[in-house]
Amino acid sequence: MIASRFEYRNPQDIDEAVRLYLEFQGDAVYLSGGTDLVPRMKLGLEKPGAVIDLKRILPLTTIEDQGDWVRIGGLARIFDLKQNELIKNFFPALEASLEATSCESLQMRGTIGGNLLQNSRCLFYNQSEFWRRSKGFCLKMGGESCNAVPGAKTCFANYCSDNAPALCTLSAEIEFTGPDGLRRLNLEALYTNKADKPFDLRPGEILTAILLPKKKTIGGYKKLRVRGAIDYPLLGVAFSFADGSGKLAVGAVGPKPYVVEVKQPARDNIGEAVKTVLKQARPVGNTVLDPDYRKRMISVFAARLVNKVMKGAK
Ligand SMILES: Cc1cc2nc3c(=O)[nH]c(=O)nc-3n(C[C@H](O)[C@H](O)[C@H](O)COP(=O)(O)OP(=O)(O)OC[C@H]3O[C@@H](n4cnc5c(N)ncnc54)[C@H](O)[C@@H]3O)c2cc1C
Repeated sequence: MIASRFEYRNPQDIDEAVRLYLEFQGDAVYLSGGTDLVPRMKLGLEKPGAVIDLKRILPLTTIEDQGDWVRIGGLARIFDLKQNELIKNFFPALEASLEATSCESLQMRGTIGGNLLQNSRCLFYNQSEFWRRSKGFCLKMGGESCNAVPGAKTCFANYCSDNAPALCTLSAEIEFTGPDGLRRLNLEALYTNKADKPFDLRPGEILTAILLPKKKTIGGYKKLRVRGAIDYPLLGVAFSFADGSGKLAVGAVGPKPYVVEVKQPARDNIGEAVKTVLKQARPVGNTVLDPDYRKRMISVFAARLVNKVMKGAK
C-alpha cells in the first residue's frame, strides 16, 4: 500500500514547526517516530498535504529532573525512557508499561508523545481502503453507522496506548505548544471520551512535554495481549501508590483510560474501584478477543496487580 502524495518538512525548532503548520493551512500532520502515523497513511486513513517531521528538534527529546517535577520531552523515545534511572526509581508503573509497549525495535523508534496521541483502533477500521469500502465507511470514517456494532450511532474504537493508563495513575500533566502559545493540562483532560475523535487537541498544537510530580511511588502494569512479543493491548491495567493512597487506571477497553482513586487498597476497596470502571467500559467485538472475556479480565488483572504491588509496600 502506498501513501498519497505529501510535502515533507523537517524544521529545526518548535516555532518553525508551528509556522509550517500554519503555512499549510492546517492540511499537515506532525511526525515523530512514525510507527502509528505511517501505517495509517499507507492504509489511506490519513491523507495530509504535508508531513512536518519533529525529529530534528532535539530539546524535545530530553528527560529532566526539575526538583518537584520530572519533565519528559514529547519526543523522548520509549526505549530511552524505560532505561532512565528517574523513571525506574520513582515511577515503576510507567517503567512496566514502557517495557510492555509493542517490541524493542518499535520502542527504539516510537516516542512517548506519539504513543499518547496514537489514534484509536478497531478491527473494522484499521484496514485497507479497498477492505473498508467493501464494508461501507463507518462513523470514524465519516459514515452513518458502526461496523462493529450494527445500527449503533456511537464509535467503539479502542484507545490502545499502553503508557496512558500508567501516566494517569501518576497524575501526569501534559504541555502543548501551538499557534496560541503554551497550554498545560492534566493528561486525563486530553480525552474527549469519543472514540471517533479521541483528543481535545487544538489545531497545530505540538505535545512538547509530559510532567510528572516527582514523588516516589510503588506500582505496576499488567497487559492482556495474544502475542507477548509485540501486540497492542486488549486490556491494560496500571496501578500506582504513594503516601497512603493510589490510583488504578484501565485502558484499551474504550476511547480513554478509566481512572479511579483507591484509598487503602484492600481487596474490597479494589472491588469498588473495579465496579466504577465496569460502569464505564464497554468492550465490543472489535478486537481478536471476546468482549465478555476482556471485561471479566478487568477485575482479575486489577486484583492480581494491586495485591502484587501492595505486597511490596512497607
Ligand atoms: C506493529 C505495531 C505494534 C504496536 N504495539 C503497540 C503497543 O503494544 N502499545 C502501544 O501503546 N502502542 C503500540 N503501537 C503504536 C506505536 O508504535 C506506539 O504507540 C508509538 O509509541 C507511537 O509513537 P511514534 O513516535 O511512532 O508516533 P507517530 O506515528 O509519529 O505519531 C502518532 C500520532 O501522534 C501525532 N504526534 C506524534 N508526536 C506528536 C507531538 N509531539 N505533538 C503532536 N502530535 C504528535 C502524529 O501526528 C500521529 O497522529 C504499535 C505499532 C505497531 C506498528
